[in-house]
Amino acid sequence: MAAQPDWNSFAQRALKGEDFSRSECLQILNADDDELLPLLHAAFLVRRESFGRTVHIQVLANAKVGACPEDCGFCSQSSKQGSPSGESPMDTVESLVEAASQAAAISAKRLCMVTATRGPSSKDLDVICEAAREIKKKYDIELCASLGLLTEAKAKRLAEAGIDRFNHNLETSQNYFDKVVSTHSWADRVNTVKLAKASGMETCCGGIVGLGESEEDLIDLVFALRELKVDSVPVNFLDPRPGTVMAGRERISPQYALRALCLFRFLCPTADVRVAGGREVNLRSMQALALFPANSIFTSGYLTTDGNTPTDDIQMIRDAGFDIEFDGVEPDMQRAVMETEGKSARVSLPVTN
Ligand code: SF4
Repeated sequence: MAAQPDWNSFAQRALKGEDFSRSECLQILNADDDELLPLLHAAFLVRRESFGRTVHIQVLANAKVGACPEDCGFCSQSSKQGSPSGESPMDTVESLVEAASQAAAISAKRLCMVTATRGPSSKDLDVICEAAREIKKKYDIELCASLGLLTEAKAKRLAEAGIDRFNHNLETSQNYFDKVVSTHSWADRVNTVKLAKASGMETCCGGIVGLGESEEDLIDLVFALRELKVDSVPVNFLDPRPGTVMAGRERISPQYALRALCLFRFLCPTADVRVAGGREVNLRSMQALALFPANSIFTSGYLTTDGNTPTDDIQMIRDAGFDIEFDGVEPDMQRAVMETEGKSARVSLPVTN
């Protein structure tokens, strides 16, 4: 076994916000399996500084599903990869406000509105903005939106309407992006994140591990996110979907997924690092170990795939000795927690259509 770095010194440097070289990032991604627990412990030291032992749980739901005109190779919502083409229906203002009302009734923190589109049409934007204004008038709740590519004017409208945080992932490195998507560019995505930030919204921006990218590509992605200083980093692991061009791709190993999470944590030490889609099928029996570098998980499934049940995830978090902070939870899940430990929870309800 080659000599391994002193992971605790990596943790100390990450805590000071120091840079990591490309070769150090490669050491993280290629750490020997015998080094996995020391590496995870070092990442945990960094995570603990900002988030203690708390795990945020969030639930995703679509406000507008499928029929997306873009061709992202991993996505079954693309009309070029199995999803029907044409306009899919958008949620109404009333149903979004109703979702917020339910969220507020259970002391929600955040409502997440997600659509499958290249970018919001002016009609979609009207609905989201009107709903946001209504919700902000009535409820003390944070609003997040994931609506595709933005222009400066659209970003300003969202911010002015009360959207607190905007999600838009870079997905992969600039170098690898055109192997995954041809209908828009990596620069388009970076531009949207910058516009969201410039408008005053917080930014949620991450990517997908396992698209066939090299380790260098993954490192480039993490460097780009670090440079953008995003507030929240969702880390997805490819779960190859039938009908997509990535359907036959092999999943990554649980060990590699964990080392990748450590890389995200060392380079984005204070960001909300969230284990997102593909957790269950890529990490499998190692899922609880992801809580050491990451401080947040999604539960109840993802935009196009199923996931663990809230009860299973709550059990896993408790068994691993972490505390739960509810950041996006449906009533069923809140009930599950109440039954589990009988205490009130800070939750937010996702938009459902
Ligand atoms: S990832 Fe988003 S933009 Fe790409 S096809 Fe899927 S829904 Fe459309």
